[in-house]
Amino acid sequence: MTDRSIDPYQPIAPERPPGDPDAARTDRLTEAVSAILPALDAFNRFETPDRSSVRSEWLPLLDEPLPEEGVGADAVVELLRDVVIPRGLRVGHPGFTSWVTTAPSTTAAAGHLASAVASPQRWWLQPGNHLDTMAVRWLIELLGFPASFVGTFTSGGSTANLVGLGGARQHAAERLGIDAALDGIGALPEPRVYASPETHHVVTRAMGVLGMGRANLRLVELDSERRANVRQMEGLICEDLAAGRTPVAIVGNAGDVNTGIIDPLTEMAALAREHDIWFHVDGAYGGWGMLDERVEPAFGDRGLYDSFAVDPHKWLAAPVGTGLAICRDGDLLGRAFTIESGAYDRERNQVADPIGDAEAPWGALGSGTPDWGVDFSTPTRGIPVWAVLKEIGAEGVRERIRRHNDFARLVAARAVAEDELELLAEPQLSIACFRYRPPGLDDPARLDALNADILAELRRAGRSLPSSTSIDGAFALRACYINPRNDREHVDLLVDDVLAAGRRLSAAG
Ligand SMILES: *Cc1c(COP(=O)(O)O)cnc(C)c1O
Repeated sequence: MTDRSIDPYQPIAPERPPGDPDAARTDRLTEAVSAILPALDAFNRFETPDRSSVRSEWLPLLDEPLPEEGVGADAVVELLRDVVIPRGLRVGHPGFTSWVTTAPSTTAAAGHLASAVASPQRWWLQPGNHLDTMAVRWLIELLGFPASFVGTFTSGGSTANLVGLGGARQHAAERLGIDAALDGIGALPEPRVYASPETHHVVTRAMGVLGMGRANLRLVELDSERRANVRQMEGLICEDLAAGRTPVAIVGNAGDVNTGIIDPLTEMAALAREHDIWFHVDGAYGGWGMLDERVEPAFGDRGLYDSFAVDPHKWLAAPVGTGLAICRDGDLLGRAFTIESGAYDRERNQVADPIGDAEAPWGALGSGTPDWGVDFSTPTRGIPVWAVLKEIGAEGVRERIRRHNDFARLVAARAVAEDELELLAEPQLSIACFRYRPPGLDDPARLDALNADILAELRRAGRSLPSSTSIDGAFALRACYINPRNDREHVDLLVDDVLAAGRRLSAAG
């Protein structure tokens, strides 16, 4: 029942009342940020024990029903400073080598704040808009792509892979005279994508989102080096072509997340070319690896990739929420992700002169286009990326990649040298997988249990923080180096800590 005493066309609160409940502070940022900065610096020193898992401490201070009345800015800043920040997630700890995630470096964090406040929207003329476009161009150059390739920042590798495969879908459909983005893919006979079983599950999800179907991702076996079996892939493609299906894309891994292995990208590119199939490469984690000259040849000719996904929020340590999709064909990508202008934003199409001044603010869109991705409003992700590249330069990034690849090689060398350790996967990039295996202990179940216990003990101690994976069914300790705070000292500490925990647990058990 509508309340007939309320006239929906009459204003009811045009003036702020005394004690205004909408007290959202829009000034005095210095005060708020200064209040939390010492806590953030202390957090980044990682000197105190990690209390993030002690829920009994922080849950009662934070967990509550939706408040009807606010507590005001000062109280919120205090909670951030005293409760949230000190118990934060320590993915930036120098001994943290779990999964493929890290915390932003200082300049990246400062750029993130600057972007959030002064460039909260990527579009329209302003320095942030230019920096975003320029950062994309810098990365295209850094990663060895032809200058004719285009790129766009995305929310992460998940979306960057989705964008690449959206390009692939458009390409395959247009060859059959279908505009997939306009008309859907109902008329596209059984779209198929080919990849290795180590392919990240976001690719499978992209198949679902793009309407091609998760079941239409065809996985080949791994070869003896844990890379996609390209001969088998060729067989599947020929089989599908003969049956009238539609090969849409070959997906190559440029560093899978388990072991960091790079698929035979040159052979895959050739196979894709031969059948005019889109070649997408997922380098979300390992794409940066091409900056190490020892590994670069494994990436092949970037000019042969049709699309590429890479995450500045991984090895480049940009704030989480920063992926990058690179594509050979900007026109095609624009057709795949066209967003029509609404009546309210028709000025969006008035693209600015790239050098000259605009007549007035808001009159012209800056550079870049929302037609290359799935976001419309989007943060200016390029500001923190630009900040990092400007701070350390191309050579600084290369140095980080080489150093981290070295760290994995050092762990592997010690795993080979120590009698009680076993190397389970030779590092190609910055991931080393190994386990504790005292001479004489061969029972697979006991080895798995022992190594799981070692991992649990390391996490309790909080100094060496690897993750785990499964290599040919065996429980492996997995160290992945992408964190700019990882140091040489913690490389040796990890191996020493595993040996010490293994000895203690074996003696106790
Ligand atoms: C991290 C990762 C993804 C997923 O990317 P998000 O940034 O987590 O969305 C996909 N593929 C690979 C190889 C990755 O390392």
